[in-house]
Amino acid sequence: MGHTMSRRRFMTAAAGAAVATRPAGVASALAPTVFAAGAEKPALLGGRPLRGAPFPAWPVIDDREQSALLEVLRGRKWYRGDGQTVSRFEEAYARLTGARHCIATANGTSALYASLAGLDVAPGDEVILPPYTFVATLNVVFLQYALPVFVDSDPETLQMDARRLEGALSERTAVIVPVHLGGNACDLDAILDVSRRRKVPVLEDACQAHLGEWRGRKLGTLGAAGCFSFQASKNLNSGEGGAILTNDDALAERCWAFHDNARARRGRPAPPLGGRGANLRLTEFQAGLLLAQMTRLEEQSRVREENARYLTQQLREVPGILPARMHEGCTRNAYHLYMFRYQPEPFAGLPRARFLEALRAEGVPCSPGYTPLNRQPFVAATLASRAYQRLYPKQVLAGWEERSRCPANDGLCEEAVWLTQTMLLGPRQDMDDIAAAVRKIQASAAELARA
Ligand SMILES: *Cc1c(COP(=O)(O)O)cnc(C)c1O
Repeated sequence: MGHTMSRRRFMTAAAGAAVATRPAGVASALAPTVFAAGAEKPALLGGRPLRGAPFPAWPVIDDREQSALLEVLRGRKWYRGDGQTVSRFEEAYARLTGARHCIATANGTSALYASLAGLDVAPGDEVILPPYTFVATLNVVFLQYALPVFVDSDPETLQMDARRLEGALSERTAVIVPVHLGGNACDLDAILDVSRRRKVPVLEDACQAHLGEWRGRKLGTLGAAGCFSFQASKNLNSGEGGAILTNDDALAERCWAFHDNARARRGRPAPPLGGRGANLRLTEFQAGLLLAQMTRLEEQSRVREENARYLTQQLREVPGILPARMHEGCTRNAYHLYMFRYQPEPFAGLPRARFLEALRAEGVPCSPGYTPLNRQPFVAATLASRAYQRLYPKQVLAGWEERSRCPANDGLCEEAVWLTQTMLLGPRQDMDDIAAAVRKIQASAAELARA
């Protein structure tokens, strides 16, 4: 749901902005006098859009991608069992992140699915996760017939509120799945502390956090395992793709087996997983693309981070705009998303939906982000299904709703605004445009609210 929908909306908004450009002067000639001195007429009310140019296109490609794909094509070894490209990518990604093992998978969802299997999550177990995440984080819990338990969000960081984590654990908790949402890090000090004391492993959903860091160590390498996505919108992209990182040899073997039809890796003994497994393998073509895209990852991450830092300086001066705070331990933010909260009061009460429309009209694509995952009707429907009714005691299911209430997250979902990572890849002037568009809307907020 989440990412595809909003991505499409970004594209449309960006394309619309490009054609809506008008010569300077026209808008001011038409601007009625009701706009306060210095306040230009908002594009949503017929004024000139602040920005006409589209933001950088994604993905970035050149001859590197072309030769990588042609090499695999002409080599006629398109499956990882025949070729070397997937193994080369795994070695390169492990080296880049400092992980002992990397197992490439078909996508981020299958990386999470195989990791939960590797951690022996079974029906009857509980899995802890945040409600502010992409739906796949939850889907894999249901695929293992485990019970999701949501820990409320911290609206300041938009991450799982680690202060509420321990209270969510029970004797049935099998895994804690924090999500480094938008590439910003969760409070790993607090989460790993609970994990160690309560002896419950952490599986990091780092699907949005390529090259992100916690105290100088790469996100996805601090828990028992970490999962990444290389889906088209992600900061490292092969259309579809994923990876599991772990420093645990035995866990690596179990994840490997699950992703390769419950077979052992060539030359190694079969791991004790029973017969469970599927084909969740990455192809040689995707690995070739990833190796090529990886040559730009560090530089792109640096540009995103610099632009985001500058944008935060600009936006935090605007009353009612609250950029996502970072924990002190987050030494590098991957900025898959640039996230802030919007509060209507300093914008003359202009509702968020109207603010988003106005921002898009100024040529700045944006999205309201996720809706509360714990309250999606399919969640209750799954818990009411035959399998769950049979697997879980009545009182556990009856108490689930009360346990899974996330009022802070409900509020956050009303306030959040997202910009995508691709918007951070251009020159600093693009950040000035975003900030100017927000200030322009604030200056004319009363008119926008009335219109
Ligand atoms: C993208 C994403 C996933 C799933 O990855 P796919 O490659 O799309 O299967 C899981 N969790 C989060 C937080 C994601 O952003």
